[in-house]
Amino acid sequence: MPVHKNRETSFDKMSVSDLELRGKKVLLRCDFNVPLDRAAGTITDAGRIAAALPTIRYLLSNGAAVIACSHLGRPSPGEKPDGNRNREFSLEVVGKSLSELLGLPVKMSRDVAGEDSRRLAKALRPGEIMLLENLRFEPGEEANDPEFARALASLADFFVEDAFGCVHRAHASIEGISRFLLSAAGLLLEKELKYIGGALTEPKPPLVAILGGSKVSDKIGVIDNLLEKANALIIGGGMAYTFIKARGGKIGASLCEDDKLDAARDMLVKAQRLGVKLWLPVDSLAAARPDGGLEPVVVNSYDIPDGMMGLDIGPRAANEFVSVIKDAGTVVWNGPMGVFELPEYSNGTRMIAGAITDPYIVSIVGGGDSAAAIRQFGLERRVTHVSTGGGATLEFLEGRKLPGVACLPDRPRRDIQGAVSL
Ligand code: AMP
Repeated sequence: MPVHKNRETSFDKMSVSDLELRGKKVLLRCDFNVPLDRAAGTITDAGRIAAALPTIRYLLSNGAAVIACSHLGRPSPGEKPDGNRNREFSLEVVGKSLSELLGLPVKMSRDVAGEDSRRLAKALRPGEIMLLENLRFEPGEEANDPEFARALASLADFFVEDAFGCVHRAHASIEGISRFLLSAAGLLLEKELKYIGGALTEPKPPLVAILGGSKVSDKIGVIDNLLEKANALIIGGGMAYTFIKARGGKIGASLCEDDKLDAARDMLVKAQRLGVKLWLPVDSLAAARPDGGLEPVVVNSYDIPDGMMGLDIGPRAANEFVSVIKDAGTVVWNGPMGVFELPEYSNGTRMIAGAITDPYIVSIVGGGDSAAAIRQFGLERRVTHVSTGGGATLEFLEGRKLPGVACLPDRPRRDIQGAVSL
């Protein structure tokens, strides 16, 4: 897989492997925004913490001290966790989990870039790690306040960006910080850019994009961009019915965004103009409501009876989609083919998931629901890459500038002797 060249800059970004780390303090932006069982005060899925471990281990084993930071949920800014408000958003629970996964103590700061953080950071030795409190306790974080970014920067010598799931946000710990510290991409961020970027810019041909899920409005920009890159585009899930209606089909009570019918028509015309085959499900599994326990029926997707809604792609559509995937060199998949959470409507999504695990295919699964689906089917290890991002993955697929990537400096050039020039 080729190293990703950033679209808007067309050169490589500075990597953590370019930094001379020995004896340095590194502020590491992670995405520790993990799902919580609020009543029990526990983490229900520590996957995002585990995803940060390679960079943390790299930094520690190369003689750096790590000051990790992240946001968690949506606390009220300006409220400290020591009162009753915001307690549930404290990163303490993350610190405990990180410590268990790393097998090292993690020193927990009681504030974000205040007195306690400064004291702990000052005393931090190479090979040690500390964790700041929830970045969103500070109003300056989401406001991208330069004063707050400067305070964060004062804790460390370098900044390493590894929160791929957050790079679409221009917040202080993601974008503003890079104005105050020499900044570089961490290993997770590099991996995401390499796989998703590589699939879009230099895919093993042919490139087949598969989009699903409920909302067309979330994905029009993605379709628009992928039509220029892919050889075929498969659209399933609830969003397919807006396209089927735009083609003149009768979709019963299926999901439809009427205000997106024109945009859907534009995409159908664009696909035709570019010679990209756009596949929609010829048949669907339908029922009166999106609930379990009803007997689904197979219907023609262009003639769905009144009062019935398409809840999964039908058997003919699933077979058609699978045969398109079989001919692909690279597949990018974002969004389920139906209400996969219910066993009655999971077959289409399961068949797509199975087809993309063909070892010949470079398979990239966008985050969110398709990542959940691939895990639900136990196929995570059989695809090339499952992205950790949701919104960030979509914006990347849309070809939009990602502030947390664009702000990183270029990779230094190396001369023939290997000397680095910045
Ligand atoms: P999104 O957040 O847009 O990616 O959509 C994901 C959600 O779409 C999942 O929770 C699915 O259950 C739902 N979904 C997929 N297909 C359909 C459909 N045909 N009708 C209703 N919901 C759907």
